Amino acid sequence: MARIVMKFGGTSVADLDRIRRAAARIKAEAERGNEVAVVVSAMAGVTNAMVQLVRDAANLADLREYDVVVSSGEQVTSGLMAIVLQSMGVQARSWMGWQIPIRTDDAHGSSRIEEIEVADMERRFREGQVAVVAGFQGIDKQGRITTLGRGGSDTSAVALAAALNAERCDIYTDVDGVYTTDPRIVAKARKLNRITYEEMLEMASQGAKVLQTRSVEMAMKHHVRIQVLSSFEDSPGTLVVDEDEIVEQALVSGIAYSRDEAKITLLRVPDQPGVAAKIFGPLADAAINVDMIVQNVSAETERTDLTFTVSKADLERTVAVLRGRQEELGFADLLSDHNVVKVSVIGVGMRSHAGVAQQMFTALAERGINIQVISTSEIKVSVLIAEEYTELALRGLHTAYGLDAA
Ligand code: ASP
Ligand code: MG
Repeated sequence: MARIVMKFGGTSVADLDRIRRAAARIKAEAERGNEVAVVVSAMAGVTNAMVQLVRDAANLADLREYDVVVSSGEQVTSGLMAIVLQSMGVQARSWMGWQIPIRTDDAHGSSRIEEIEVADMERRFREGQVAVVAGFQGIDKQGRITTLGRGGSDTSAVALAAALNAERCDIYTDVDGVYTTDPRIVAKARKLNRITYEEMLEMASQGAKVLQTRSVEMAMKHHVRIQVLSSFEDSPGTLVVDEDEIVEQALVSGIAYSRDEAKITLLRVPDQPGVAAKIFGPLADAAINVDMIVQNVSAETERTDLTFTVSKADLERTVAVLRGRQEELGFADLLSDHNVVKVSVIGVGMRSHAGVAQQMFTALAERGINIQVISTSEIKVSVLIAEEYTELALRGLHTAYGLDAA
């Protein structure tokens, strides 16, 4: 007997037919004698529709009420799933975040889970009951409903798996695993059997959309074994595991990309102590996340150019904040460009091998692709390039690092 968390994403519960198919998988796990907690997302498209409704209702809606509205999709799915399971002869009940409870902080719209009380659920397991948990939602100290940020049901599932000390956390989705890169763009992309937490974390934060970044952080911290697999096919998925569980480590495991980037250049910024702090301080205050940053050394002029990236959604606000302080900051002009993409090669193998970045630059140069900004970490090299080269770059890099399927 094992304890298992099974999470079903929006496309896997998009209609009753699919809910029934998911329920059949749940039933099979329960009949193997396992204790099963299921975490469900809202049916496909429902959360988007709710978000739109809130936006249409008011420009700056109260985030506590936003959470009340957008968390509702999961309530529907969990009830439906429990009903379908019962009709198949499986004992099951639904659990809202507040009923468990899943306690979070009060950062409405992107709350963090602080604690999950599982004693009640464990008691029901012993009675043979399957728990069907509404993902994405929790409750704060004031007793208000919170949500965990878009894609947050992944985090609900991993957090629950950690709290329950579950053997596995299976994330059922519409792809059959984690790929070396986006298979819609690179036909020769390969499914990975295993990937390390660290690589998955980089993949997720660099644009791969399979798992919410926070869920991977949490899995890494609590050593939750995640399996990403398809709810439509019966094939083994990708295991996200500790590094020591991977025998043969490739130099580069995956290539991620994000189109959600915009580039800003401040021209002729004074090259003095404190200037970067003065520029990025107000952006941080406005909750604008800055990603890549490059600043040159000024030659003779005591002025330099400063380039950085923000998400496309924040571009307008960033420009407004900086333009409003142009005089104080002393830059000559501001250029912005949203026609960019960030491409990242990721692999824990590069910690112990030189030349990975060089290989990337060569592959891009051979295709006439200009690199605008570069940033690196221990296990990642990212470049910013013009968006129209996304496909060419991904395919070229995939081949260059020997990732192509045979
Ligand atoms: N339904 C929520 C969303 O679309 C949470 C989730 O599905 O993970 O973001
Ligand atoms: Mg998702």
